[in-house]
Amino acid sequence: MSTVPEYFASRVFDDKVMRSRLPEKVYKSLRQTLDNGTKLHLELANAVATAMCDWAVENGATHFTHWFQPLTGITAEKHDGFINPSPDGRVIMEFSGKELFKGEPDASSFPSGGLRATFEARGYTAWDPSSYAFIKENTLCIPTAFCSYGGEALDKKTPLLRSMEALNKQSLRILKLFGNSDVKRVVTNVGPEQEYFLVDREMYLKRKDLIYTGRTLFGAKAPKGQELEDHYFGAIKPRVQAYMEDLNEELWKLGVLAKTEHNEVAPAQHELAPIYATTNVATDHNQLTMEIMKKVARKHSLVCLLHEKPFAGVNGSGKHNNWSMSTDTGENLLSPGETPYENARFLLFLVAVIKAVDEYQDLLRLAVATAGNDHRLGANEAPPAVISIFLGDELSAVLDAIETDSHYSGAEKKKMKLGVDILPRFTRDSTDRNRTSPFAFTGNKFEFRMVGSNDSIACANVMINSSVAEALRQFADVLEGAADFEDRLHSLIKEEIIAHKRIIFNGNGYDDAWIKEATEQRGLLNLRTTADALPRLLDQKNIDMLTGHGVFSESELRSRYEIQLENYVRTVRIEALTMVDMARKEIMPAIAAYSSALAEGTARKKAVDPSMSCGYETKLIKKLSDLNDKADEATEELEKAVAELDSLGDVTAEANLVRDMLLPQMSALRAVCDEAEPLTSADYWPFPTYGDLLFGV
Ligand code: ADP
Ligand code: MG
Repeated sequence: MSTVPEYFASRVFDDKVMRSRLPEKVYKSLRQTLDNGTKLHLELANAVATAMCDWAVENGATHFTHWFQPLTGITAEKHDGFINPSPDGRVIMEFSGKELFKGEPDASSFPSGGLRATFEARGYTAWDPSSYAFIKENTLCIPTAFCSYGGEALDKKTPLLRSMEALNKQSLRILKLFGNSDVKRVVTNVGPEQEYFLVDREMYLKRKDLIYTGRTLFGAKAPKGQELEDHYFGAIKPRVQAYMEDLNEELWKLGVLAKTEHNEVAPAQHELAPIYATTNVATDHNQLTMEIMKKVARKHSLVCLLHEKPFAGVNGSGKHNNWSMSTDTGENLLSPGETPYENARFLLFLVAVIKAVDEYQDLLRLAVATAGNDHRLGANEAPPAVISIFLGDELSAVLDAIETDSHYSGAEKKKMKLGVDILPRFTRDSTDRNRTSPFAFTGNKFEFRMVGSNDSIACANVMINSSVAEALRQFADVLEGAADFEDRLHSLIKEEIIAHKRIIFNGNGYDDAWIKEATEQRGLLNLRTTADALPRLLDQKNIDMLTGHGVFSESELRSRYEIQLENYVRTVRIEALTMVDMARKEIMPAIAAYSSALAEGTARKKAVDPSMSCGYETKLIKKLSDLNDKADEATEELEKAVAELDSLGDVTAEANLVRDMLLPQMSALRAVCDEAEPLTSADYWPFPTYGDLLFGV
């Protein structure tokens, strides 16, 4: 067995492989493309393709695929063999630059929200050289963008790359003003911390809800949940340990820098965090990580649940999106510097993020809006649906001092004059309060905590990048024309702090009083559900901003609105039908069978001695029978709600009905069945319970 450094990235066509396998001229051109986004000529692409093919075949690959992220949420791939007939009747393994550049999957079944009528189904995929190709199983996977022939994006990567470009462009304008002319490129980096649950596969297979929807739709609370907090960072069980080891190995071979692993708060919940990477690569790697997590679980007779809320009553899963901006000269723009100038620059970028988050709260919220994540946001383990920023006391005090032209009351009691004074080193605030914040500054990066565990991180980062680019654009417009740069810089930062300080909140985000204050006094948005949040995408201010930076066209936005709402409606509809199915075919028959067994038992006992009271049985039979009647009614109501949903035909109306009718009906049905579960003998209950699932590994 080789060591980790030996096998790390062994299945990746990375810089090292390129350098060793490509002719120098080709390598240099490709490097140019990778570093500066310059175009690569077909001729060179042919050379790259040949080298890729040789390398892949040597490493056991027989097929290649353009690997892309359609709006379904998963990654898609269509495999083609390298195989080509040769004149001598044998075959050669071949791959051309053209095939590398462009693919044409028959993509009529991917959601396009009306952008690509089905009769002209041919979207195309285009190579993204900024994310390395890799071998998965026997297939060379080439990360690609997916577009319609009209050039509209049908995927998540395209707008992400565009948003990174927008942020690069505006950041360079700002850096130029600070005299940083050596910087050629600004990128955003992300380290996504991925939470997940592991359950036993045998048990999983007995639950239709898990199979069809990824979450439990029924289930009474187990006697023990997470209240002892004995799982968080606890010793990892051998079976889970073996899984994690296997998972790491698979990920490392694919060049994913999986770094941290630990148990999370809920029983059976775990987390994996990679070392951060450029957003585009981090996004691809996170997609890959989710896929490999599920695959490796199978080998261990486990199932990896990535749903945001697999179990009611215990924590759900999210994905903390650690985000920062850095230069190609290696500077983190969200890191306070050593000189007054660097400090002023840091504050400007910091204030840009604050402005962006305040002005585009709605976009950040809707970027993470899914049926699954709605269960999590606002429950008391995840951030609330109200967006605010945590800065910590020290940095908040600095902003206060700037705002009021007063003394900064930190350790050194200094008056803050930008461009003159040096900021204190901010130590990272690790108090528990910052855990409740949706958007927390953690020393040299922001941590956006609202992303769902099952979601691609692309959408969230598109919105963060774009809205920060917009803030920087406005700043650059003001500062480029300023007579006295330093003076204008100081007043600009001050104005922006005053305008946007309402979004800063260092307190406990789980507190009801905060939600009241946020919405009533500060005027912050509280978009509780996907149906509430998504329509904001089409607000004029958002369309203007996103089209203004070339991140989306208006028609792309409209299509995304449709698709995201459609996903929401379809997801909940499947859940409702699954509930009906389970209630009718499993739960109600089980309750009926158990109560009739009780009744038979009672009759037999009475046959022995008619004077026996059989109080226990009689009471229970009555209770269960009543509950079953209620379950039957609730099931009928739910079926009616689904029928009404199906009669609507307009996705916005459907989403509203899902929120107002379907979900409440589902809760009602669940409540009755969950009440019956602990009253029913374990021998009769038709599927594994919460206790079995949460403590069964
Ligand atoms: P935690 O938040 O769990 O305490 P860390 O803050 O150490 O852990 O790291 C969480 C994630 O943030 C990791 O994926 C890490 O690589 C990433 N991270 C660290 N620094 C940066 C940065 N400058 N930009 C983006 N992500 C970062
Ligand atoms: Mg974290």
